[in-house]
Amino acid sequence: MTQDIPTYADVAAAADRIKGHAHHTPVLTSRTIDAELGASVFFKCENLQRMGAFKFRGAFNALSCLSEAQKQAGVVTFSSGNHAQAIALSARILGVPATIIMPLDAPAAKVAATKGYGGNVITYDRYTEDREAIGTRLAEDNGLTLIPPYDHPHVIAGQGTAVKELIEETGPLDALFVPLGGGGLLSGSLLSARELSPECAVYGVEPEAGNDGQRSFRTGTIVHIETPKTIADGAQTQHLGQLTFPIIQHAATDILTASDPDLVDAMRFFASRMKIIVEPTGCLGLAAARMMNTELKSKRIGVLLSGGNVDMERFCTLLSA
Ligand SMILES: *Cc1c(COP(=O)(O)O)cnc(C)c1O
Repeated sequence: MTQDIPTYADVAAAADRIKGHAHHTPVLTSRTIDAELGASVFFKCENLQRMGAFKFRGAFNALSCLSEAQKQAGVVTFSSGNHAQAIALSARILGVPATIIMPLDAPAAKVAATKGYGGNVITYDRYTEDREAIGTRLAEDNGLTLIPPYDHPHVIAGQGTAVKELIEETGPLDALFVPLGGGGLLSGSLLSARELSPECAVYGVEPEAGNDGQRSFRTGTIVHIETPKTIADGAQTQHLGQLTFPIIQHAATDILTASDPDLVDAMRFFASRMKIIVEPTGCLGLAAARMMNTELKSKRIGVLLSGGNVDMERFCTLLSA
């Protein structure tokens, strides 16, 4: 496996590979939010991507790049949910057997969807067991290829195709807000933004409860933390990656944080005003943009809505709390 840091050329190659398989998702606007921020806001709706999140892009690209022998032997991955579904669906489309290591407390909808796509699900306790060790052991014992959720060049390149599509559609932006977990989405987005809109300020946004990315960015070394307790289950990562961190360190403008109550407010806004379901992690970008408010006056802003996979019961509970 190559461990080279990907470039924009890899994003462009990924765009060709996923074409006809991934959706070219819509870009939505809202007069209400434009009035609130005094800006022009463009929402890239990856909540409407296949399997409900941008992760299909990276997973499909990574599996497409495997050799025939690797495809036949199968793949293994670990994920809090969306990467699992993305690998399971991509594997089914490409005829590759997939084993998925998921946390015991992963949202029921995500576990059910992963199994529904034909993935072989193995569970672990995310507070006491090391998913990377489990994945590595399974890969070694069974000759499987490990496709990690973010620290992989083909995954990063695939994730970058969402912002490539966004900027190709909107033209240059002044600022872009991207949810941040392990940094696959942010680093891919940076490759596209730096190429297509070099002046654009690009912010990664992570949950307040787990600001390892912000601390890593500001100190220059990868900070490790305990699994943070937050409703943003897609960003409960413990550290940035060996490949994602250098890209973020070099090209991001800053890393911001958002609180759980602010994510709920954004979720309510998307559902009530824009008629779309966005999962808590997918709300990080808007929550941060709302806090910046005055700095964004009269600017053209991109906000990446990274996913929409939230159980309806949990959605209702969060909104009624
Ligand atoms: C995985 C995920 C993220 C974070 O992506 P990284 O590449 O780990 O930074 C954000 N939002 C959603 C919906 C996700 O599934």
